[in-house]
Amino acid sequence: MQYLIDQARVFRARAAAHAVHLGSLAESHKPRAMFVACSDARLVPALITAARPGDLFELRTYGGLIPPYDAEEPTGESRTIEYAVTKLNVSDIIVCGHSHCDVVSAAMQDNLAVSGVAGAEEEAPLTGDLTAAGHWHVLAQLDVLSGYPSVTARLADRSLHLNAWFHELDTGATLQYHPRASAFLPL
Ligand SMILES: [Zn+2]
Repeated sequence: MQYLIDQARVFRARAAAHAVHLGSLAESHKPRAMFVACSDARLVPALITAARPGDLFELRTYGGLIPPYDAEEPTGESRTIEYAVTKLNVSDIIVCGHSHCDVVSAAMQDNLAVSGVAGAEEEAPLTGDLTAAGHWHVLAQLDVLSGYPSVTARLADRSLHLNAWFHELDTGATLQYHPRASAFLPL
């Protein structure tokens, strides 16, 4: 914990060294994209994308799970998504899964359909292939996200784009899903 405290204390100096003008951050909030990912500490969106303060609007959850839209019972996650889509008007949402995900792994070991925790209708490919399950898991979250009315509307007028990414913790490579190839390929 002391390491984190020490780093927080010298943050302003580090920001200045990287030419981050903290004062200008108070003037507007226009992130380049929303980034939805697992809370796993080994996955660091800002490190992967070299994002600076103001660049990424993040939603980190258990396994990167996105709850189905429910107008009657909004969740913290759904409020975050609605805010990004309707208030911040982000042009892109990146849903990023990752290798060695404890949540996907646990679901497979328990022989549970990952969809059971994702709330999706389709069954996960329980082939024992963790990578394939991880890829499928990302696409399942994208499906859930597409069901949000605000997202559906903006997809229809093409003002919003959904991106499925998969980051390999051990190699550092990031893949993107290409619908035409039905495959995750290197960015
Ligand atoms: Zn994870």
